[in-house]
Amino acid sequence: MLRLEKLVKTYKTGDQALKAVDLNVPEGQVLALIGPSGAGKSTLIRCINRLVEPTSGSVFLGDVDLTRLSMSALRRQRRRMGMIFQEYALVERLTVMENVLSGRLGYVGFWRSFLRKYPQSDVDEAFRLLDRVGLAHMADKRADELSGGQRQRVGICRALIQDPALLLVDEPTASLDPKTSRQIMRLICELCKERGLAAIINIHDVALAQMFVQRVIGLRFGAVEFDGLPEGLTPEV
Ligand code: ADP
Ligand code: ADP
Repeated sequence: MLRLEKLVKTYKTGDQALKAVDLNVPEGQVLALIGPSGAGKSTLIRCINRLVEPTSGSVFLGDVDLTRLSMSALRRQRRRMGMIFQEYALVERLTVMENVLSGRLGYVGFWRSFLRKYPQSDVDEAFRLLDRVGLAHMADKRADELSGGQRQRVGICRALIQDPALLLVDEPTASLDPKTSRQIMRLICELCKERGLAAIINIHDVALAQMFVQRVIGLRFGAVEFDGLPEGLTPEV
């Protein structure tokens, strides 16, 4: 469902963040992207939805090469990709419910949520999602009243209400304590399974990846150095 072909990113500074990465992600597969900082994990995730423009190569989502699309066509395809961020990227002064509903517009246009009246069906779906992650009772709280783990749950709901085919998850637990990190990873992986969603999770913590996913991609110096079962990882690569 997602296929990267010879994906290259060279930043203006000359940094070769990705050196011809090939990667195939089948439908419904959840994989973890690991590797030391600077390996290119974040660049890889962001090249998929073109938050970072690839220098060359292709990103196929289904049959569509995202690298060849105009901005308006890309915007439509981005609706199929939910994104979850390290720092949650919630709108602090909006409520939990409003933050979740903003996912309906895609992250490029979340400010418009102020102006929009949502259909009851969207509100119902947001409630169902919040209930699933244990936050239904917080729906009317402002985002800035929540703990880190609660915020990330809201971020997850906001990504899922898009009904995406693919989740792009960038260091979801980097700002959380170990216990909350495990809960959030478990939740993301369970939800992917329930919905048949594919996901790429950029995660620094190898032990967490080993606990929850079936496939690990090890990046180093912008190249895939490991691709396989988490058990195959040696502690000292
Ligand atoms: P940092 O220096 O950014 O803290 P490390 O180099 O310590 O990152 O890597 C963290 C963990 O990830 C280590 O346990 C290491 O074995 C593992 N690791 C790093 N890069 C790879 C890779 N390319 N393939 C497999 N495992 C890796
Ligand atoms: P990771 O997510 O694995 O820590 P990154 O994708 O953030 O790795 O970075 C990969 C390489 O690209 C690093 O050498 C980093 O310094 C460089 N890099 C990342 N973002 C930029 C940028 N905006 N401008 C220039 N170089 C960048």
